[in-house]
Amino acid sequence: MSRSVLVTGGNRGIGLAIARAFAEAGDKVAITYRSGEPPQELTSLGVLAVRCDITDSEQVEQAYKEIEEKHGNVEVLVANAGITKDTLLMRMSEEDFASVVDTNLTGTFRVVKRANRGMLRAKKGRVVLISSVVGLLGSAGQANYAASKAALVGFARSLARELGSRNITFNVVAPGFVDTDMTKVLTDEQRAGIVANVPLARYAQPEEIAAAVSFLASDDAAYITGAVIPVDGGLGM
Ligand code: NAD
Repeated sequence: MSRSVLVTGGNRGIGLAIARAFAEAGDKVAITYRSGEPPQELTSLGVLAVRCDITDSEQVEQAYKEIEEKHGNVEVLVANAGITKDTLLMRMSEEDFASVVDTNLTGTFRVVKRANRGMLRAKKGRVVLISSVVGLLGSAGQANYAASKAALVGFARSLARELGSRNITFNVVAPGFVDTDMTKVLTDEQRAGIVANVPLARYAQPEEIAAAVSFLASDDAAYITGAVIPVDGGLGM
């Protein structure tokens, strides 16, 4: 059955692969994006693209209204949008810290809270949050990012307890290093250093993260909630 699916930050990278996987499975997919133009590929797949900055509750409300009008109640939410602002603690400004938390954690709170309204009404919902292996292991120069990604685990597990009886599941996917714009900024030397610590000895492709998300959103995962699924080539074990 075709579900209404929303993927935040679905215009590129991991979010794009997730949106593509749902659309190819026949779901009604909407994505939000912050800037630029969504790729033509999404339009061809019939994906609804809505510009929305998740740091602004009013934009989140407007985006939901549009999506609900066109696709009905959101049944599957993938909170994927996220940013990094890497720097060592001694150079990290309060703004560097706050802006990463405002996007990765509070932005996720904003979209989850709005999605919950319809999921409660429908007595069904699947929420998947994209965290990171860095949230579990820590990473020098990424204290802001790691803190925001670790917090998503406590957020999801609290909601899994709070809303399990309403048939809404909350799960977390924790990717390792994935080939996207976010990691393109790393030098070849940094990439080689990372890969040297990954048992599978390579980066992930975005589609490999999408596969775990699709599973968690499926009926086969109906009895899974509060789980953190690493898709990290073994890096975090
Ligand atoms: P990316 O930079 O290619 O894409 C990030 C997406 O988030 C973009 O679509 C962007 O528009 C959106 N976004 C950022 N700030 C936003 C805002 N304020 N409002 C709305 N949308 C916003 O990154 P990616 O690698 O595809 O990462 C996707 C998610 O996966 C992120 O949460 C990231 O932290 C996480 N992740 C990435 C990796 C990796 O190695 N690439 C590893 C672990 C986790």
